[in-house]
Amino acid sequence: MIAISACLLGFKCRYDGKSKKNSALIKLLESEKILPICPEQLGGLPTPRAPSNLVEGDGFDVLDGNAKVINSFGDDNTEAFIKGAYAALDMIREQKIKRCFLKDKSPSCGRGEKYLTGVTAALLIRKGYIVEEFS
Ligand code: SF4
Repeated sequence: MIAISACLLGFKCRYDGKSKKNSALIKLLESEKILPICPEQLGGLPTPRAPSNLVEGDGFDVLDGNAKVINSFGDDNTEAFIKGAYAALDMIREQKIKRCFLKDKSPSCGRGEKYLTGVTAALLIRKGYIVEEFS
């Protein structure tokens, strides 16, 4: 089984109420069992919601208490992002998943190749999971 950012599967869970459906990826995974995850929703944030950014560091720094996640209104969403990351980790552990395909350029899911590493990606990498990034 593979955990996947839900927006890549077509779930309209992004901050703007839209998805980032990746049809090629969905086709590639036709025969796989998959677990959709959206850490920002798991953290209790509504959809749609104001976009958030990592401030003063990346997801690893957020986990260590040295950076924050702030939305475009200036609200501090750090706690929700950390809560969502641990909720995703719990689901992934429960299903004995080893690989995670996550959305790039996201303050939650980004793997850090095109943007800073997101909070959930950082937690999963730190816990030894294979995290790959998709657009
Ligand atoms: S990138 Fe991650 S947190 Fe953002 S909408 Fe997609 S699944 Fe949810």
